[in-house]
Amino acid sequence: MIPVKGYAAHNEKDPLGPWNFERRNVGADDVEIDILFCGICHSDIHQVRSEWRPGIFPMVPGHEIVGRVVSLGENARNFKVGELVGIGCMVDSCHECPSCKSGHEQFCEKGETVWTYNGLERDKKTPTYGGYSNKIVCNKDFVVHVSEKLDLKGVAPLLCAGITTYSPLKNGVLAKAIKWLF
Ligand SMILES: [Zn+2]
Ligand SMILES: [Zn+2]
Repeated sequence: MIPVKGYAAHNEKDPLGPWNFERRNVGADDVEIDILFCGICHSDIHQVRSEWRPGIFPMVPGHEIVGRVVSLGENARNFKVGELVGIGCMVDSCHECPSCKSGHEQFCEKGETVWTYNGLERDKKTPTYGGYSNKIVCNKDFVVHVSEKLDLKGVAPLLCAGITTYSPLKNGVLAKAIKWLF
């Protein structure tokens, strides 16, 4: 296991505090990342306060993660050690169903979408811990390449808040909704 330092909530009320925990060793499909920046999404606050559903505690929030690759599994060679990468709201899924194959892993038809934190791995037992931490190990299919030219503290919020705004504009859903309203 890999030792990690994070900030965790231990219940719905108290402030977050330092917490040491472990992540899995790097598997064949995994990328190990040293986290450099993590955005604070408003959903982090909702989840820590158990406002959407009972939280899994201790909880390490954070799903707007930017960092540098430090090691790779043998099937993750589309990444390089030292490269900048990002992770958003999901870290795994079944990889096989029509939704997952079409890039809509949030709708995994086997119910195996794994959320970056306050979720369970596909074994339905192991909690996931997010980006308020110094390291993460993630399946390669849920890691994105990040350009060296960008301001990383500005990149982090793109991985949830940014894509949430951009995607409906790009896909025309918002345009359709406005047309329908008027
Ligand atoms: Zn978010
Ligand atoms: Zn699936």
